Amino acid sequence: MRCDVCGKEGARIRRVTRAYGRGRQELLIRNVPVVTCPRCGESYLTAETLYEIERIKLHRHNLAERRQVEVAEFVRAPAGEARPTRALQRSVRSAPRR
Ligand SMILES: [Zn+2]
Repeated sequence: MRCDVCGKEGARIRRVTRAYGRGRQELLIRNVPVVTCPRCGESYLTAETLYEIERIKLHRHNLAERRQVEVAEFVRAPAGEARPTRALQRSVRSAPRR
């Protein structure tokens, strides 16, 4: 498909889980289509997808089901992100283990 940002062919759709809101109001929406373009490196949601997300959020009590899930925080800095080694080690050690 064509990339809306650079206009070139080759953009792909990736399905991801996205979280909206915080705490007890947090809502996970699975299989959200994200367009990613290997040409320009951009990833974005289409207007249609954003509209559907708003619709799901608005009707969450009908469209969402309550589930118990385990939640983990990704605490390590992404590769290439400048961060002191000591802070990195500390955050790794504080990650919950099971
Ligand atoms: Zn592009």
